[in-house]
Amino acid sequence: MDSFRGSCLCQSVTYEATGEVQGFYLCHCSHCRKISGSAHGANIFIKVQSFNWLTGEDKISHYNLQNTRFEKAFCPNCSSTLPVLRGNGHAVIPAGSLDSDFSIKPNAHIHYASRMGWDHDLEKIKTFQELPDND
Ligand SMILES: [Zn+2]
Ligand SMILES: [Zn+2]
Repeated sequence: MDSFRGSCLCQSVTYEATGEVQGFYLCHCSHCRKISGSAHGANIFIKVQSFNWLTGEDKISHYNLQNTRFEKAFCPNCSSTLPVLRGNGHAVIPAGSLDSDFSIKPNAHIHYASRMGWDHDLEKIKTFQELPDND
């Protein structure tokens, strides 16, 4: 049994999930890149019954991309990406919104053919534990 909590940046919206994680995928498709502003989406899938909003559910805004199943839920105050409850019974939880420790490894990269040109071998670049000094 997995159990974790998450929230948006301004803390208006909070949630918890308790149940088996069904999957965890890093999606490099152009929709996920645009909406995240980053290299890929990182989404955890769990059954809707395992998911509960704690605060702020009534505040959440949604964006649906026309003629696709692509949907983003977000906080209208801080614009953080939030979980989407899909009609197929899955809650799709953006991994970056978690507050709890979560050590389950992603199952796979998906839409990897759509990744950006620089998006490979990233573990080989220089790493700073915090913001590097500017001298
Ligand atoms: Zn917020
Ligand atoms: Zn995607």
